[in-house]
Amino acid sequence: MSNAWSPDTLIAQAMGEIEPVYKGVVPPIHPATTYIRDPDNSYPTGVAYSRDDNPTTRAPERLLAALEQGEEALLFASGMASAVAVFETLPIGAHVVAQNVMYWGLREWLRSKDEAGRLSVTFAALEEPGAAAAAVRPGATKLVWAESPSNPLWRVVDIQAVADVAHGAGAVLAVDSTAATPILTRPLTLGADIVMHSATKYLNGHSDVIAGALAFKDKGPLWQLLKTYRHDTGAVLAPFEAWLLLRGMRTLHIRVRTASSGALTLARQLQSHPMIEQVRYPGLQDAPDHSLAKRQMDGGFGGMLSIQVKGGEQAAIGAAAKVKIWKRATSLGGVESLIEHRSSIEGPGTPVPTNLLRLSVGIEDPADLYADLDQALS
Ligand SMILES: *Cc1c(COP(=O)(O)O)cnc(C)c1O
Repeated sequence: MSNAWSPDTLIAQAMGEIEPVYKGVVPPIHPATTYIRDPDNSYPTGVAYSRDDNPTTRAPERLLAALEQGEEALLFASGMASAVAVFETLPIGAHVVAQNVMYWGLREWLRSKDEAGRLSVTFAALEEPGAAAAAVRPGATKLVWAESPSNPLWRVVDIQAVADVAHGAGAVLAVDSTAATPILTRPLTLGADIVMHSATKYLNGHSDVIAGALAFKDKGPLWQLLKTYRHDTGAVLAPFEAWLLLRGMRTLHIRVRTASSGALTLARQLQSHPMIEQVRYPGLQDAPDHSLAKRQMDGGFGGMLSIQVKGGEQAAIGAAAKVKIWKRATSLGGVESLIEHRSSIEGPGTPVPTNLLRLSVGIEDPADLYADLDQALS
C-alpha cells in the first residue's frame, strides 16, 4: 500500500495487502488463537496470542487508522466496550466533561458511574460555544467526551475549539465520530486525541456485526494504555467479525456519500411537509450549526436526521406504525433505512422530545423513502 493513495482507493483495496502464499484478492480469516514460536524462541511475525493481536483484526484497524489520519487503531467487541475502555483507564474519581445530549447508552453509564463515585461527571452542551470552557476544571479535568453530529438532535461540535479548551485544562479530548465517519470528519486532524466509533454502524454498514473502535494520533502512551486495557479485559473483536467488518468497510465511502445525499434530499422535502413541526439535520440552511458543519464536515452532512411530528407522541408513533420501506428498529448506519421513536427506547429522564422520530437513511432511492414517509404521515 502507498501513503499517496486516496481514501477511496485505500477503502476499495482494503489497504492493498495481499496474502503472500495463495495471493487471493480477499484477505483470509485467521481463526488461530495461538501462534508457533521459532526454535530460537522468538515469534517470527510478532503475533503470539489472539487476545493481544490477530492478523484478521489488524486489517480493519490499519485501514481505520489510515482513514482517520492517525497511526493506530484498536478494535473492541462493541462500541460500548471501546467507549467504556477510555473512561475505565482514568483514575478513581477523575473529573470528566461529557456532552449533555449524546448517545443515550453511554450517557446512562456515565450517570451511573458518577452516582457510584467512580467518576465525577459534568454534562455540558458542548455544541454551544463557551460551554466546554465553563465546564472544565483546569488541572483537574482528565477527559472531555464529545459526539459530533450528536444523537438524536444531530448537533455539530466545533472539535478544534473544544480540543483547545480540553488541552488548555490539561485534559484529553475523545470524540464519538460514529455518525460522521472518517469520510466526512477526521477529528484527529482537528486536535482530538482519541476517535471512537461504534463500528456496528456505518463502518460495517450492513447491520450484521457488533464492533467498536478507537483511533489514535500515534503509538503513544494513550494507545499503549488502551491496548493493555483491552488485553487485560479481553474486550476483543473475534476474527470472523473483524473479517466481516473489513468486507463492509470496503464500500464505506460509497455508502456514506449516498446516505448523506439521500438524507439531505429528504430533510429538505420533509421541512415543507404539513405534518412536520421540525426537521433536525445539520445540512439544512437554517440548522443551528450549519456554517460550522459546512466547515468541519467534508462532502456531506451524514445519513442521520430526526423529524418532529405535529400532533405529539401518538402522532409520531402512529406514523412509524404505517411505514412499509423504512424498518422500525433501533441502531443506524446500515444500507437499509431505519425509523425509531427515540424517547420510547430511552425511557424516563430522556431529554428527547416525545414527538421525535429518528431516521437512519440507507442507500435506497430517496424518492421511495419520501413517498413512504409521506403516506405514513398523511
Ligand atoms: C450505537 C452507538 C454506540 C454504541 O455502540 P455499540 O456498538 O452498540 O456498542 C455509541 N455511540 C453511538 C453514537 C452509537 O450510535
